[in-house]
Amino acid sequence: MEKFDLIVIGSGPGGYVAAIRAAQRGLKVACIEKEKTLGGTCLNVGCIPSKALLHSTEYYHKVAAEGKEHGIEAKELTINLKQMMKRKEKIVSGLVGGIDFLFKKNKVTRFQGEACLSTPTSVQVGEKMLEASHILLATGSEPIALPFLPFDEKRVLSSTGALSLPKVPKKMLMIGAGVIGLELGSVYQRMGTEIEVVELLDRVTPPFDREVSKALYKIFTKQGMTFHLKNKVIAGKAGKDGVELTLESKETLKGDVVLVAIGRRPYSKGLGLEKVGVQTDPQGRVKIDGSFRTSVPSIYAIGDLVDGPMLAHKASEEGIAAVDLICGDTVVLPYLSIPNVMYTWPEVACVGMTEEEAREAGLEIRVGKIPFKAIPRARCSGDEEGMVKIIGEKATDRLIGMHIIGPNASEMIHEGVIAIQEGLTVLDVAHASHAHPTCAEAIKEAALATHNQAIHA
Ligand SMILES: Cc1cc2nc3c(=O)[nH]c(=O)nc-3n(C[C@H](O)[C@H](O)[C@H](O)COP(=O)(O)OP(=O)(O)OC[C@H]3O[C@@H](n4cnc5c(N)ncnc54)[C@H](O)[C@@H]3O)c2cc1C
Repeated sequence: MEKFDLIVIGSGPGGYVAAIRAAQRGLKVACIEKEKTLGGTCLNVGCIPSKALLHSTEYYHKVAAEGKEHGIEAKELTINLKQMMKRKEKIVSGLVGGIDFLFKKNKVTRFQGEACLSTPTSVQVGEKMLEASHILLATGSEPIALPFLPFDEKRVLSSTGALSLPKVPKKMLMIGAGVIGLELGSVYQRMGTEIEVVELLDRVTPPFDREVSKALYKIFTKQGMTFHLKNKVIAGKAGKDGVELTLESKETLKGDVVLVAIGRRPYSKGLGLEKVGVQTDPQGRVKIDGSFRTSVPSIYAIGDLVDGPMLAHKASEEGIAAVDLICGDTVVLPYLSIPNVMYTWPEVACVGMTEEEAREAGLEIRVGKIPFKAIPRARCSGDEEGMVKIIGEKATDRLIGMHIIGPNASEMIHEGVIAIQEGLTVLDVAHASHAHPTCAEAIKEAALATHNQAIHA
């Protein structure tokens, strides 16, 4: 039996980062991955391929929709979907190969195969039995299917299927108006696909601030998406010629394909949790304490497999924290300052509390907002849609929430992340010099606006 200090099961952004951290700290580490490539959902069928396609289609859309205004005219602008997919695959294979390299560099031993817990300190992978004083579960999540509409990845698509369509569909139905659905819907809409979305709740992107959700509904509607909010798909069938959905409202929708984007659930199939006594909650998430320890003390769990937002950077932070805790450090993860981003155009990025959460918590707050049309740099790039909204606690002036809809929101949000993590006040942010002309000036102005001191609005 091969012996290690730590066995990591799963090589997504939670698992591979934890494995490297542990090796850097001097532990003898094994990482077991069932797929041929490392990197998990994020690198293979999640964050990275979706962003590659979003970038490609954004270029296309900018030239097609706005080129003329800039004085750029293309006689014949066409899409070569095969090349777009090839580029996406090249980016993915480069990055997953990079993790192989990092494993070798850091002397992480990689095993390919499905891991199954044997005892609290041993794991079976194929014919091999591995032993370690600590085991870290990082087996991630999988897309949820509707019972009456199983994925076939041809007509009924999960996010994985939607990342590799052989041709641009004429009409895509979407079930769920969450981040993953709207990102992938945007990819195809920019290439000419008609998008019709059914959402159970009364708003799009439910976890975001309500005002942000409302603004996004208007933006996506203007872009051409159709929404059926507060509605439910109760039946569906897929045939040779397309798909048909029946809604609770009795309407029938027809399309070439349907993307089912109703969420993801923790993945622990075949992991042997019950055998060794690792407990899960009713949603199937592995239960952990504040130190990522499961109900079995030698076994830890992180990432999509446990409670919290299903985000790659959250999984990575937890992976590092879990290893540091195993090594005897004291670690407290600042969950409130974990940002959440949607890479549509405009982008959306949020950190901290929404206005509703702050009010529900009984906090007295100040809210400052600035539209991007007041920001010169956004005027230059033609990205005037959206706003920055900042929420400060009245008593302390601490910045407790930042919500951005606008150009490069994904990059700008980190100013809010640091402010929340370090307990900065809204005026600390307002008084920091922001280069001109930049879109980040909107953050300074929104911070000033919370004190009715905005200059440009
Ligand atoms: C389309 C899409 C886009 C996304 N975009 C973003 C984004 O922009 N930003 C963001 O932060 N998040 C994004 N996410 C979410 C992100 O991908 C996940 O939150 C993240 O991958 C979770 O990391 P993880 O390490 O917990 O699990 P995963 O990345 O799911 O990795 C788990 C790994 O464990 C392996 N595994 C499972 N069981 C076993 C077993 N028994 N033995 C061996 N191996 C096993 C799996 O094969 C997998 O490789 C996106 C997800 C999707 C689907």
